[in-house]
Amino acid sequence: MKSVTIFGATGSVGQSAIDLIARAPDEYDVVALTGGRNLALLAADALRLKAKVAVTCHAELYSDLKDLLAGTGVEVAAGTLAVTEAAHLPADWTLSAIIGAAGLVPSFTALSHGRTLALANKESLVTAGPLLMQAAKDHRATILPVDSEHSAVFQALVGEDMAAVERVIITASGGAFRDWPIEKLAGATLTEASSHPNWNMGQRITIDSASMFNKGMELIETKEFFGVDPKMIEVLVHRESLVHALVGFTDGALMAHVGPPDMRHAIGYALHWPNRGVLPVERLDLAKIGQLSFEAADPARYPALQIAADVMSSGGLAGAAFNAAKERALDLFIAGEIGFVDMARIVSRVLDKMLASDGLQNALITLDNVLEIDALARKRADEAKTELG
Ligand code: NAD
Ligand code: MG
Repeated sequence: MKSVTIFGATGSVGQSAIDLIARAPDEYDVVALTGGRNLALLAADALRLKAKVAVTCHAELYSDLKDLLAGTGVEVAAGTLAVTEAAHLPADWTLSAIIGAAGLVPSFTALSHGRTLALANKESLVTAGPLLMQAAKDHRATILPVDSEHSAVFQALVGEDMAAVERVIITASGGAFRDWPIEKLAGATLTEASSHPNWNMGQRITIDSASMFNKGMELIETKEFFGVDPKMIEVLVHRESLVHALVGFTDGALMAHVGPPDMRHAIGYALHWPNRGVLPVERLDLAKIGQLSFEAADPARYPALQIAADVMSSGGLAGAAFNAAKERALDLFIAGEIGFVDMARIVSRVLDKMLASDGLQNALITLDNVLEIDALARKRADEAKTELG
């Protein structure tokens, strides 16, 4: 029996993980499931997987969740601190699949206990990569990447010597607007930005895919997790989303990872690592698919990529400021207060200002400093919105 805890169990990644675990109930002992407002789903999964604890991050929903699980034996907790508490409970495998910077503290806490952390929450690495990697080292914890591109790179590197790696290429579908004339992007609506050509994901990451902020974050994730020079990392537009990443070696070989666009692959790889499980994902019929296409990413269409490159060269707390400004700009776009292209304008402005005045580059990456810069960058994003009009 493997004991597992899932942070963000009610989300898109969390549900894919639960799908895998629910298929083999005798193999898993579920410790904690955490979620947000979807209490019905959280309670139903906690019950069917016989979880010890169910946690909602909203303190005010405690009694609602308690009512739903009354008499079932599942313990109930609520609030941000209760989510962190869940990371203190022993588990053999922990999935960090909360969306946004809120995933950082649970990720860090699990690592500080030396756990095996399957990391889908890319914000953990974007905001505090060096802190997380050091915590893993100090506490002999293991981080397994669950973003599809990073899982692909990780798999391509099995048995390889990092010194022989020349480049790492992560692919991007190009998102919802890959074929739109650039002039039209300013008028893109929330509904249009919320539909992904290939992947079925949560709304926020889907919009981040349309703007390529998602890929920008993944560049930073690649740098932090694999410890490679940003100059070695490339983005390649690949419309079919079947090749997830490629690793180039000093002898000219490129090892590509090919698989269906289904997060259960990356999650399942981390769940069964270091072995391979039997996963219920589609087996690709390449003869039927026929062709795969690749093209360079257009920097004019995707300013987020250059912003991410600037964040990588700045280092320090630039990632924390970048992520928080991006999260706030995304909130504003979802609320209908700014247009689609304003997100990149706001993030860029916040970073320029904070890099010039807030000493991000040389700051120490501690949890407190990350949280402080996070709050400041959100405030600066609101100011930028007003300034840009
Ligand atoms: P989602 O929006 O579908 O689900 C997010 C989960 O986090 C939900 O359970 C929600 O209740 C919980 N949550 C939200 N805010 C919270 C908070 N403040 N505190 C505690 N819990 C909170 O998100 P998702 O698409 O599943 O993405 C989850 C993470 O995985 C993100 O970091 C995303 O970038 C990453 N990721 C997702 C995919 C995908 O296919 N969806 C692929 C790769 C990486
Ligand atoms: Mg990805």
